[in-house]
Amino acid sequence: MIYFDATATTKPSQEVLDTYNKVNKEYWFNPSSMYNLSVICQNLIEQTSANIFKMLNLKDKFIYYTSGATEANNMAIMGLVKPYINQNKHIITTEIEHPSVYNTFKYLESIGFKVTYLKCKNGIINLDDLKASLTKDTILVSIMWVNNIIGSINPMKDIIEIVKKNSHAKLHSDMVQGFAKIKPDFAFNDIDLITITMHKLEGLKGIGLLISNKNLKLEPIIYGGHQQLALRPGTLDTGLIVSAAKTIRLALEKQDASYYYVQDLANYLKNKLNKLPFIIINAPSPLQSPYIVSISFTNIKGETAMHYLEKADIYVGIGSACNEKIQTLERTILAISLDKERANNMIRISLSTHNTKEDIDLLVNKLQELGSK
Ligand code: PMP
Repeated sequence: MIYFDATATTKPSQEVLDTYNKVNKEYWFNPSSMYNLSVICQNLIEQTSANIFKMLNLKDKFIYYTSGATEANNMAIMGLVKPYINQNKHIITTEIEHPSVYNTFKYLESIGFKVTYLKCKNGIINLDDLKASLTKDTILVSIMWVNNIIGSINPMKDIIEIVKKNSHAKLHSDMVQGFAKIKPDFAFNDIDLITITMHKLEGLKGIGLLISNKNLKLEPIIYGGHQQLALRPGTLDTGLIVSAAKTIRLALEKQDASYYYVQDLANYLKNKLNKLPFIIINAPSPLQSPYIVSISFTNIKGETAMHYLEKADIYVGIGSACNEKIQTLERTILAISLDKERANNMIRISLSTHNTKEDIDLLVNKLQELGSK
């Protein structure tokens, strides 16, 4: 099997699985109960957050443990704007966000919020557009760091500066595809709300993090007990939470080495793809994540190509996994190309340290075979 879909998810590492099993075997108690065994679980969770703060250089933050990035994105956005319903407030996002951000904004628009969807013709936002769209009524700006379809990298450092200087808005960023993969040129601490998820980093599914400013008031979107400041109630899984710190530590330790390895693979792949006349590489931004190579065929549907490769035991994506089932046109490709055909004909090749140049040779051979049919 050759797996080129690490943007959709990754196989959990043995170390993370071991941590999960070890902690869960001993500390499976409800952390909210009052007896000592529960207090130990609660302490382990607090220790985990403290470890993550240290690894990411965070101060005055709170970590909400969620089921993943979809929930963290919803919590951040809905939680922040909920007190402002029917107050004519303005919120900003981009036209190429993941559905868990984009569709939340669409909902908020439907209930009366004024929404600006920043254009991303080059796969990234235009900083002047951002500056011009901020008003005294803007309460939230949500801009992803690395796009999950084409791997374009937004200039977060400039975005932080512009939002801080020109507004009172809070800044949220979906960092799922950049975190522990791309070296940041900004401080995580300077962003009010950050979303990450563990299953893209060889961690477990069912655990995401919303890292919030400690003093930031969010409204709950689900109601229940007092866990996690009553903002994300429900019984916590100590093992899953401790596994998150392990996932992050391992990913950060390997970040640079992985980046250079994958960058070399991406260059090797792109050189080969550039020689195929029936393929366009979707990479309009000068800054690209090497982990994601998005291509469109001139005359083959993405879905057809995906299934053709699948027969050879090669797995690629055809857009956001959350969208694949409903086969929507890929919003990101439409945004950069305004071309429906190109959106329909795209596949996403995700690279990881588990791939080799031999894997790429096999993939390109298959693409060549398909193109000459
Ligand atoms: N944001 C981005 C950029 C993603 O790539 C994904 C995963 N496709 C998500 C959010 C959703 O993550 P999760 O599966 O943890 O809900």
